[in-house]
Amino acid sequence: MGLRNLWLLLLIGTFLGPLVTCDDPEDHLHEDHPPGRGHWSYTDVTEWDKAYPACGEKEQSPINVDTRDTRFDPTLKPIEVSGYDVSPEESLKLKNNGHTVVLQLPDSLEIVGGLTNTYRAAQLHFHWGSQSSPGSEHTVNGQKFPGEIHVVHYSSSFQSLDEAVTQPGGLAVLAAFIQKGPEENKDYQHLLTHLEEVKEAGESTEIPGFDIRGLLPQQLDRYYRYNGSLTTPPCYQTVNWTIFNQTIFLSEDQLDILEDTIHHDHDHILQENFREPQSLNGRLVLSSFRPPVSGRKAPEQAPAPSASAPDSANGPSDRSGEGAPRADNQTFSTGDMLAIIFGVLFAVTALAFFIYFRQNRKKNLRSSDKKSNVIYKAATAEDNMA
Ligand SMILES: [Zn+2]
Repeated sequence: MGLRNLWLLLLIGTFLGPLVTCDDPEDHLHEDHPPGRGHWSYTDVTEWDKAYPACGEKEQSPINVDTRDTRFDPTLKPIEVSGYDVSPEESLKLKNNGHTVVLQLPDSLEIVGGLTNTYRAAQLHFHWGSQSSPGSEHTVNGQKFPGEIHVVHYSSSFQSLDEAVTQPGGLAVLAAFIQKGPEENKDYQHLLTHLEEVKEAGESTEIPGFDIRGLLPQQLDRYYRYNGSLTTPPCYQTVNWTIFNQTIFLSEDQLDILEDTIHHDHDHILQENFREPQSLNGRLVLSSFRPPVSGRKAPEQAPAPSASAPDSANGPSDRSGEGAPRADNQTFSTGDMLAIIFGVLFAVTALAFFIYFRQNRKKNLRSSDKKSNVIYKAATAEDNMA
């Protein structure tokens, strides 16, 4: 009997184990374990608001960006960062907090342009999926990307991240989508080679400084902006989000490392650490650039093809067969698709008319061959068409 119960317990433990993570709720932002807070995991997202009421409020993140509903805001200036090139002499702490892998950043890294305030860096981390499903948190026109990087900053109006995290306008997160490209991304390699050292939840390591700027897309002037929240408990609605339009490319091997190395629990790989898009609830998403007009030519020629061409700077964007297509290509392709569909419909209709016309003409020719009045017959055919 006793042995059977033990087996039963072991069996239950094996199945329930992965569903419960016992890491601190605010690790998403910092590492100290605040006392008295509950646990959360990605398998109980519907329960988050019980322990963290903000998770059930109306301005939550992530969201889906519907490019048809974004509003171009010419006052949104390019994002400018400063101090991002961290010397190799300086070491940075990399930690597996059981929900993601976090790289702590010195507050000498700052956002100095593109927001109304200066924001100091605190940390960066990632969201990813698995080989079979993409893991970005934000989506563009419903399109999910293989991964997403978040660089978390806090307003210089506050003394610390802890102070800023609960205050409106307290945080600014720079987000970018990660997708599969043909080449190894050297900037990401600085980080990915150390993931093995923090395989288990709670483990941390020190890595030499490198150019953090290289983890962001090249183009920092084209982005979406909205007000939202932390995407993990405690879900405070204090984040000024910037989602870059240009994506980042990692090689297939690099994506595999990101998806398959980190454990949230012994023997359990941490995958699909993302929250589903939340309802906008009337919020407006701004864009720093004019989204391409789909289906027809733009009234003004302002964003010439060259404006979107540098997307290929990180690698070709024509790997839509494997990775997700680029965000702005997506808009173009919707328009193109519509144009193609209407084109095909028009061609089919024209062909049908032509065949119909020919058959009637032949019929008429056959039936009135003896009369041999060609002009009259054509007119008859036209009458039939009407
Ligand atoms: Zn995040």
